Amino acid sequence: MTYSKTHPSAIRHARDMLAFIHSSPTPWHAVASMVECLQEDGFSALHETESWALQPHGRHYVIRGGALMAFVTGGESPAETGFVIAGAHTDSPGLRLKPHAAHLSEGLLRLGVEVYGGPILATFTDRDLGLAGRVQKRTENGIQTQLIHIARPVVRLPNLAIHMNRDVNEQGLKLNRQTELNLIFSGEEALSTDDFKAFIASELACAPEDILAMDMLVRDTQEGAIWGAREEYVATGQLDNLASCHSILQALLKVDAPRQTVIGAFFDHEEVGSESHVGASGSFVSDVLARISEALFLHGADALRARARSTFISVDMAHAWNPNFPAAYEPQHRLRMNAGPAIKYNASQRYATDSESAARFIHWCEEADVPYQQYVHRSDLACGSTIGPLVSARLGMSTVDVGAPMWSMHSLRESAGVLDNWWLTKVLDRALEGG
Ligand SMILES: [Zn+2]
Repeated sequence: MTYSKTHPSAIRHARDMLAFIHSSPTPWHAVASMVECLQEDGFSALHETESWALQPHGRHYVIRGGALMAFVTGGESPAETGFVIAGAHTDSPGLRLKPHAAHLSEGLLRLGVEVYGGPILATFTDRDLGLAGRVQKRTENGIQTQLIHIARPVVRLPNLAIHMNRDVNEQGLKLNRQTELNLIFSGEEALSTDDFKAFIASELACAPEDILAMDMLVRDTQEGAIWGAREEYVATGQLDNLASCHSILQALLKVDAPRQTVIGAFFDHEEVGSESHVGASGSFVSDVLARISEALFLHGADALRARARSTFISVDMAHAWNPNFPAAYEPQHRLRMNAGPAIKYNASQRYATDSESAARFIHWCEEADVPYQQYVHRSDLACGSTIGPLVSARLGMSTVDVGAPMWSMHSLRESAGVLDNWWLTKVLDRALEGG
């Protein structure tokens, strides 16, 4: 590949993506960030509790907690054209506060956490950590949900000095999940455990007793960066999988008067198995499809005909080859950074790709003039999975698993290529156009 400096449009795309990720520290913030873009582009809200009336080329979205479905209805009946759905997940692995998080020990106020999904725990040490989540508040009219994002450093997980952990570089940093992940919040003497709730209340300008419950996540405060001599890489937390959410959203915003109904599907809880009302194994996607079908007067066999003609594109990040660890990769399927999105295969159906769905994706890549790569995990290593096989099985849709290559998946600071998500967006533009 020849480029003297990374393409300016790709840099613009990367900056926009990093800003999106920085304003989306939790699944609920990610949904809010996406909804803001959708509303600016004329998408209007639908609610699962209300009845829907849909017109051809209508632009709508539906929120269920940290999950979101946004769609543009086609000019033709889905029974004749099928749906095109591109999906990704809004959650990232990390640490979440326990309900009684605050506890005093030896003059320090600390916060207890649970591990969410499979983060590289060592990457949480010695970082300037903030907090973000949602708080359920008592108000005059009942209970109100409010998002909170404390983007300045307020908590910390100090590493153990090497003088007390002499073989840390040979053995790696091992952290006990119960005893060694407590975050330091404050060192003031004579603090009480109520101080944490008071702190959150002051951030929200409410009374501590009005806070009924909260979901609070630990997040890096460092903003994303573009790095490399030619500005060829990005670094930030949550590239997995907000980079994919961003690509799908950008492609969806460009959809104009399509023939087919096109849908962006964004799920929570992928990192913990997807088995929830907001996860890809839950009813959200099939409920929304059923509602769209009914509102477009598709019943019985016609609704099933629509599904049978449909395609699902599962977008999640892929593992780029890291030359410091060559033995970790399948030698014939090394993914290079900035060499195009990857199509992911797994014989045990951890990825849902088959030759049919792969060929369709390759065709879109060719039409968009975008290079692509093919990925298979080492046969002697357990392969991760995605929402692809789950949605594919539940909806009975042919599915391709794809995504941009990245380094350090599930680190607090992941890296990817500037070009790959930009290219992926071009392919999704093509796919959602009604190919
Ligand atoms: Zn992922």
